[in-house]
Amino acid sequence: MADNFNTELAELLYPQITILPCDMERRYPLRELPEGAKVTRLAPSPTGFIHLGNIYGALIDERLAHQSGGVVYLRIEDTDFKREVKGGTAMIIDMLGLYGIKFDEGATVTGDNGAYGPYRQSQRKEIYQTYAKQLVREGKAYPCFCSPGELGKIREEQASAKLTPGYYGEWAVWRDADINKIKAKLDQGEKFVLRLRSQGEEGKSSKFTDLVKGTIDVSDNFIDHVILKSDGIPDYHFAHAVDDHLMRTTHVVRDESWLPSLPFHIELFRALGFKMPKYIHTAQVLKLDDVTGMKRKLSKRKDPEFGLAYFYSSGYPVAVTTEYLMTLLNSNYEEWRAKNPDKLYTDFPFSVNKLSSSGCLFDFNKLNDIGRSVISRMTADEVYDSVTAWSGEYDKELHTALTADPDYARKIFALGRGGAKPRKDLAKWSDVKQYVSFFYDGMFAAEEQIDDKFEKSDIRAALEQFITVYDEADDQNAWFGKLKIIAEALGFAPEVKQYKQSPEQYKGHVGDIAMFLRVAVTGRLNSPDLYDVMHILGRQRVIERVKNYADTLV
Ligand code: GLU
Repeated sequence: MADNFNTELAELLYPQITILPCDMERRYPLRELPEGAKVTRLAPSPTGFIHLGNIYGALIDERLAHQSGGVVYLRIEDTDFKREVKGGTAMIIDMLGLYGIKFDEGATVTGDNGAYGPYRQSQRKEIYQTYAKQLVREGKAYPCFCSPGELGKIREEQASAKLTPGYYGEWAVWRDADINKIKAKLDQGEKFVLRLRSQGEEGKSSKFTDLVKGTIDVSDNFIDHVILKSDGIPDYHFAHAVDDHLMRTTHVVRDESWLPSLPFHIELFRALGFKMPKYIHTAQVLKLDDVTGMKRKLSKRKDPEFGLAYFYSSGYPVAVTTEYLMTLLNSNYEEWRAKNPDKLYTDFPFSVNKLSSSGCLFDFNKLNDIGRSVISRMTADEVYDSVTAWSGEYDKELHTALTADPDYARKIFALGRGGAKPRKDLAKWSDVKQYVSFFYDGMFAAEEQIDDKFEKSDIRAALEQFITVYDEADDQNAWFGKLKIIAEALGFAPEVKQYKQSPEQYKGHVGDIAMFLRVAVTGRLNSPDLYDVMHILGRQRVIERVKNYADTLV
């Protein structure tokens, strides 16, 4: 087609665009970064919803950039106004910040930070149209005035002829339209979309190397896809090519659901004359379906745990979720962690080569195990601060109890902490209430009972004797020595070993006496060290609870 025709058409369609791609190239020069530095980006839509998959990808972006001395930036893909939620961008930034993803540049809550902006696609119309106009000038794009009805008819005819649906070949009715026909439509003020004049062939394919999927066959795109909508705003595909080129992205990390769009992206980059960035199409996060037992993608509708907010509101410390995601990212992470328990996850040499290429299975048990282990390594003060920060928002009753006497609460959190084998009671902050409840009279309840096989009169006698001998000043040995004396007096073996040798001679053993006391004092059969628990509760409360319990045994 004649160059004149294309130049005339370009002016007709986008008269307001007076700059050229070369001006854009100058405005956004290549970045001056050290050799090998990677430039990555997170490109969410401002729906305010962040899910596990997003944070999984964001961690890859962040690690790749910062491990190589590069840049990670945030671009807001807000060309689909219907999906936009008020305050969505702020929610995304806050949530990601909380999860340790700090952007070097990009969209901020109030504007932009960086030299490659604007970082909201809705503000980049002129940039997109500059490149779109160039494509028209080069005969690589053309306007299409088909109405939705006409497009529907094309699809119907294709369906009845069992042909691939889409706007291509002979179906692309505006592909080679006469300029007068186009002018007439424009004169009537008719809206048009801009389509890429595809050079691809149906059935042809070429090799493409993805850093996770390896070398894959990618079929040619042969559809004349829309690149600018009738409002002059691009859809995701065209914006992706222009933005990642001009923002000088070196690595695109996105989930594998974008793979089917790759043929079109390859063609777009080629038509625009851009070098393609490297691609990392990440596996999706899967779960075992409760009903079918089969692996399936996490769904926003069915799985509350898909949204990141769920983990936050359940009180999983950010460090726990991050730690868990790191184990999903690189299978050698756990081994590294075992050898380096005190290092930061950012010290781990993250590798793209070790990313899983098939789905990664989300496992709550594993997350909770990690939670228990991460929390067990925290100091009592750290636990107190984190729990109260969480409970202030999510559990008022617990919050009031803990903050009424911070020293008391800190003593509880110090129980069994700090040794070589710290207790692992808590996987998340929402476990705290159950764990600490017996320390607070308002939350204390008889949760478990003493086995019926013990005589009530024995239990009562043991408790009453304990009251008469309990002395807070006793050390652990002296305290336990008193339990042994009580045991012996009541026909229980003072040593477990003795009992095991001839159980028929005893009603039980000293451990059972301790268990009577534990149930009386904590309402449970299991608790942290009873001697320590009694010291935290204080003499008065201990005696009161033991007495109350004894009184119920009539
Ligand atoms: N805006 C796209 C999304 O919301 C981004 C895909 C990409 O990272 O390129 O999923």
